[in-house]
Amino acid sequence: MSEALDPRVAAREAAAVMPTYRRMPVELVRGEGAHLFDPAGRRYVDCIAGISMANVGHCHPDVVEAIRTQAGTLINTSNLFYTEPGIALAEWLRDHTIGGKVFFCNSGAEASEAALKLARRHAGPGRDEVVALRDGFHGRTFGALSLTGQPDKQEPFRPLVPTVRHVSRDDPAELDDAISERTAAVFLEVIQGEIGVQPVAPDVLSRARELCDRFGALLIVDEIQTGLSRTGPLLASSEAGLAPDVVLLAKSLGGGVPIGAVVATPEVSDALQPGDHGSTFAASPLACAAGLAACRVLADPVLQDEVRRLGAILLDGLVSLVDSGVALEARGRGLMCAVEFPEPVAADVVTGLMRAGFLANNTSAYTVRFLPPLVIAEEDVRELTGALAAVCAAL
Ligand SMILES: *Cc1c(COP(=O)(O)O)cnc(C)c1O
Repeated sequence: MSEALDPRVAAREAAAVMPTYRRMPVELVRGEGAHLFDPAGRRYVDCIAGISMANVGHCHPDVVEAIRTQAGTLINTSNLFYTEPGIALAEWLRDHTIGGKVFFCNSGAEASEAALKLARRHAGPGRDEVVALRDGFHGRTFGALSLTGQPDKQEPFRPLVPTVRHVSRDDPAELDDAISERTAAVFLEVIQGEIGVQPVAPDVLSRARELCDRFGALLIVDEIQTGLSRTGPLLASSEAGLAPDVVLLAKSLGGGVPIGAVVATPEVSDALQPGDHGSTFAASPLACAAGLAACRVLADPVLQDEVRRLGAILLDGLVSLVDSGVALEARGRGLMCAVEFPEPVAADVVTGLMRAGFLANNTSAYTVRFLPPLVIAEEDVRELTGALAAVCAAL
């Protein structure tokens, strides 16, 4: 498969769109399930799903139908009035996750921002410290960026929110030093996605819960990438035995439409009061109708079993690269996987896969990440592992 991007498309974009993204040289015009198509009709197997944004696959018929119906009825009204789809989605999320109540927003970063405000409101004055994990990712707006434990993303934009401390994902002793009666909240992911699918140590998770209980801080678990059946269960934290006070969702929640959600247990879900926070677009009937349709698809136990089964096949393929000495490490849970190479070849691997008809993503010069739509077929997974082995052999 040759490089297919029309250079005029790249030139038009360069002249009109701010250069914040490094794009792959492919234009996509259509999607169906786990497949994407370029203007020439070439088919790609989507192995990244918009960074776990399209867990239901592209143009899932239930999501399309929900959007069509809602778009022809009522798209948005702001939050000055009652609307049914937001209530229905909040009920669904409450009943299927951690109980309590939901605040809707429009993205993952906004969910982090809202949770930060909720934590400060819950803590009250004088209790303003927040703890997060190094290498974690919680978004790129100022509050969210302050939580994101990646210095290269933070450095150009300092000063940030000043009260955030970052600790190790492997060493619970660092939590002992960081959490105190001044801590309002601990933010963490169960598996750090953006850094290349790095699981957080179980004793860090359990110590965080223990210390939050001891000092009355909120444990806020960012499931924006791990959630909604990406790793098998609806929430990765439940499989890790972790009981959060607050769960953040976004990405795949809208079946492709922008929406984010902060879910809080009954004990903390009234911390934000009228006037404390809001967003004009949040809880739009359109996004919530799409969200409810997507959630119903993603909570299907048959689908979740497939995620575990196909994830094991994918991970096996990655492990065999380690066994043959090509790769250093393979990591994964469900359909959230990554492979790390000893040399900085990840971008070349991604390019090789693209030429072979598979769209993946490198999280660094060394690591390639796979987050396919959860509806991917076994045949596509097996072809991916075969293509990956061939690309690596040709390096
Ligand atoms: C993507 C992501 C975010 C940010 O979501 P946006 O919608 O891009 O703002 C936050 N946390 C995690 C874990 C993510 O993967």
